[in-house]
Amino acid sequence: MLSPLGYPLVEAASGSDARRCVTEQDFAVILIDLRTMTGGFDVAEFVRSRPRSTLTPLIFVTTGDRDEREMTMGYAMGSVDFIVAPVVPAALRGKVALFADLFAKTHELVERAQRLRMAASRSADALGLQMEMLDRMDELSRAKSDFVSKISHELRSPLTSVIGYVELLTDGGPGDPTPEQGRMLTIIERNSRRLLALIEDLLTMSRVEAGIFELSVGMVDLRELIHSVRDTTEPAVAKAGLELRVDVGADRMLTGDREQLERALLNLLSNAVKFTSPRGHVEIATRTEGDDALVSVRDTGTGIPLDEQEHLFTRFFRAKRSQEQEVPGTGLGLYIVKQIVELHGGAMEVESTPAGSTFTMRLPIGGPPADPLSLVRR
Ligand code: ADP
Repeated sequence: MLSPLGYPLVEAASGSDARRCVTEQDFAVILIDLRTMTGGFDVAEFVRSRPRSTLTPLIFVTTGDRDEREMTMGYAMGSVDFIVAPVVPAALRGKVALFADLFAKTHELVERAQRLRMAASRSADALGLQMEMLDRMDELSRAKSDFVSKISHELRSPLTSVIGYVELLTDGGPGDPTPEQGRMLTIIERNSRRLLALIEDLLTMSRVEAGIFELSVGMVDLRELIHSVRDTTEPAVAKAGLELRVDVGADRMLTGDREQLERALLNLLSNAVKFTSPRGHVEIATRTEGDDALVSVRDTGTGIPLDEQEHLFTRFFRAKRSQEQEVPGTGLGLYIVKQIVELHGGAMEVESTPAGSTFTMRLPIGGPPADPLSLVRR
């Protein structure tokens, strides 16, 4: 009757045979024909007593005249059904198919839950490992920042002393230097200042990384700032055979950190001078756009290839050409400019072609936002 269902069927010839089968494998449903199997209820009790089959559905096939006591016993075993002879094949198949289907679904669920548990435990392991690595990297990064900061401090003091004495010698304090000595003193002073600037950049980088790079905000007169920067750069510009133009409109006040803005502007200007051939132009210009002041440095220099432009503000980045031609530099300048501008709540913009580059600092006139989170959002 059941073979048309196509399920694997196991037939037990006796009570002991049935007990053995139940011990050896799982069943979707067990039918016990009480008409032919003596001790059918004992078999049922055995089925219930085994952990493996304690929940397996039982169907008793019985004659209609079974007494109520038997029925009560049967039902007491739980998950039980009765089919009364004469058996209608379709009804029997219907019941068995229902249990088989339930069994298959339960199996599938158990397997899926097992797979999920395994996946979850694998993810938890991987996550734990990643967290450990992140902690370790954090630790290393902090150690590196500490190291850079300490070394930079240690280097700065003797260097400041060297520069002080060189200035004293240049000014003729202990006696006028000969022209040859004067030339040498100029070289010593220039290189010491370059070294000092590099140390300052490294210190700034470690402050940025430690999250303690802060601005000292006040009112900044952009016009005055730009003229001061122009005066500082003029000798280098002249030496490079360049023309420096300044295009600053009316007096323009801005809330920001004067010292840091000056530093950023000097960085942009020194790049413009460095990467522009003699007889070229460098221009500093300011204009207003809405609530922003735009300060740009334009040059007629070599430009930066498009595929390298996106890396310009990454620390230590130097364009291929600068490396090949061994142009001096560390690749920290633009990184620091970007940090300064972003701390002001602004953004850097670049336009560059083989005919020249323009670096623009876009700065909110009102100064850095009061809510530091808005910097992150921006
Ligand atoms: P540095 O000048 O010390 O190398 P920067 O961060 O200031 O570091 O600049 C990074 C690189 O970007 C430079 O090495 C150079 O290749 C390129 N670069 C910056 N400014 C200019 C410019 N005005 N023209 C051409 N290339 C530039």
